[in-house]
Amino acid sequence: MNDCIFCDIRDGKSPAKFMYQDDDVMVFPDIQPRSPIHWLIVPKKHIPELMFVEDEDVHKKLFSVVKKMIERADFKDKGYKIVINGGGLQDVNHLHIHLRGPILH
Ligand code: 5GP
Ligand code: ZN
Repeated sequence: MNDCIFCDIRDGKSPAKFMYQDDDVMVFPDIQPRSPIHWLIVPKKHIPELMFVEDEDVHKKLFSVVKKMIERADFKDKGYKIVINGGGLQDVNHLHIHLRGPILH
């Protein structure tokens, strides 16, 4: 049995307001935002973390959506941060990219 909150969100078993989705990728706001905008960009396929990505297409698809979301959030001139936690630092063991902003140093 796969006990994964992001798989539950994908399957509609747990709520989320999707900012974007296609066949491979979904985007929804982080439940505990650490910036005015804090979105999670998530492959629909359950991949535990970055080191488990076997298909380079996953990177292409994820980063193409990251770029769309940077446009959508109007971050291009405002400062943003992209973070992928791994190696046990992550709380959710389903690969995801944090996109946060606007961020001023
Ligand atoms: P990690 O530390 O794994 O990189 O980050 C996981 C993120 O997922 C955290 O920022 C946390 O707030 C977010 N998160 C955990 N559970 C849920 C949930 O059920 N819904 C949403 N939208 N975000 C979640
Ligand atoms: Zn999952």
